[in-house]
Amino acid sequence: MNYITSCPACETQFLLTKKHLKAHRGKVQCGNCEHIFNAKNRLTEISDDINSPAEYQASLESDTLESNAAIDEKPINEVLNVVLGSVPNLSNFESEEIANSSFIGDFLPEEIETPIVIEDLTADPKFHKKKFKLNFGLLAFCLLLTILAALQSIYFFRTKIAAEYPQFKPYLMQACGTLKCNIDLPKNLDLLSIDDSDMQESEQYQNVINFSSLLINNANYTQAYPNIELTLTSTDDQPVLRRVFKPSEYLKASTNVANGIALREEERINLAINVTDLVVAGYRILLVY
Ligand SMILES: [Zn+2]
Repeated sequence: MNYITSCPACETQFLLTKKHLKAHRGKVQCGNCEHIFNAKNRLTEISDDINSPAEYQASLESDTLESNAAIDEKPINEVLNVVLGSVPNLSNFESEEIANSSFIGDFLPEEIETPIVIEDLTADPKFHKKKFKLNFGLLAFCLLLTILAALQSIYFFRTKIAAEYPQFKPYLMQACGTLKCNIDLPKNLDLLSIDDSDMQESEQYQNVINFSSLLINNANYTQAYPNIELTLTSTDDQPVLRRVFKPSEYLKASTNVANGIALREEERINLAINVTDLVVAGYRILLVY
């Protein structure tokens, strides 16, 4: 199969063979105006029998005569293109010389053949800009979520944080002033203990017994004072009296309950209990919050 192509710049028509098309993947240079174009996009198939401009022109004239009636009905422009299409150089054209001829086929030098990569979107600076913007937004969002999560954790663990890291307590208290929250002292019963307990009948008052004990904070931080539940028992170990004492009841009047019991501190507890009509043989003591 042979082809006719036309230069998009000057409309000059040329005869091409498959060999010419394959040589540079269809790229050719117009011998008339030197415009470079891809002939594959502008091909009209013609018979293999047509191997010269003269034969092509003859076939056009023959076609024109045969389809004279049909041409009469076609728009004038189309007829002009087919019949009178500019073929000035074709008269001097020899098909065998196409490959070497500067007249019709100045085939392109290799460097022009180097493909220009346009599919690679990453080469577009706009693409990079957009991508960067997207990642930055995502990063900022993640950062915001992390900060919110951290603040939430600080809020819920404020008591523990204030206890373990007392250097932060002033800041937490300041924040709580704004948020209307409190920073309570830690309440870890496992790190509180009772030691050196003793119960004696009062020497001064009848029917009164004096209970004495030592409250110890084993934690590395200040804790809230616990309540003390004291149960007096009978000779057969049955409870005869049970009472819960608040810190304000078992501590000395001068002690500030709100300050809590300091780390590793021991607090002496003294209680006087009226046991009128009771037979007391023993006691049980329990710390509660
Ligand atoms: Zn041209």
